[in-house]
Amino acid sequence: MRRKLVAGNWKMHGSMAENQTLLTQLVNGLSHSGSVDVAVFPSLVYLTQAQSLLGASSIKWGAQTLSEYKFGAYTGEVSADMLADFGCDYVLVGHSERREIFQEDDQQIAKKFKAAQVKYLTPVLCVGETLNEREANQTASVIASQLQVVLDEVGIAAFEQAVIAYEPVWAIGTGKTATPEMAQEVHCAIREQLALHDEAIAQKIQILYGGSVKPENASAIFAQVDVDGALVGGASLNANDFIEICNAAN
Ligand code: PEP
Repeated sequence: MRRKLVAGNWKMHGSMAENQTLLTQLVNGLSHSGSVDVAVFPSLVYLTQAQSLLGASSIKWGAQTLSEYKFGAYTGEVSADMLADFGCDYVLVGHSERREIFQEDDQQIAKKFKAAQVKYLTPVLCVGETLNEREANQTASVIASQLQVVLDEVGIAAFEQAVIAYEPVWAIGTGKTATPEMAQEVHCAIREQLALHDEAIAQKIQILYGGSVKPENASAIFAQVDVDGALVGGASLNANDFIEICNAAN
């Protein structure tokens, strides 16, 4: 039986004061959330704050991106070694906002996935189709090819210590959610693709759903057999909502 993971992607939101309040509320409100893994992804500059406020709790933290390079003249970038210095357990890789706004392509994303694992960070590989792709019946092929590029770069064994997040681009921040059945169909296909290479890894890996997850729709999504939790954007900035979503996964 896979544990569920609920992860909060704070994107470029927050301040020292707001984070202090939110993190404190999460620590207090989630102290009994036994069987669910919980993680938050603040902006890079607040990782120290997350480390100091969450260090004694069961809540993990991670970064929203990292560089594919180990070190060097890459102004503005942050390496896996640096993230490890701040106690990160996870790092998002290939979020659709990175793919679309910052033009990260599949090859670069695969390299970032690899770079994360060199420092034992667990990459959360985000995949998802756009609205045009869904309407053109390309969902399955788009997700399969996003995943395959990473598989080709790192090999199936690397998925032993990884998380996948299926995030339909049209559902992120839009208030539109994939139906639980739509999510299940894609999650099942992802697991089947991994199973072609290694059945045990396919059965073990956590596959999260992301896209306008809220307290009202979380339980129905979590009830799907291949949904192992959620990557939550907007609702993760509100402690009560995020705690409710974590409780729905419990
Ligand atoms: C996300 O940023 O990964 C996300 C799923 O956002 P939202 O929950 O706001 O749709």
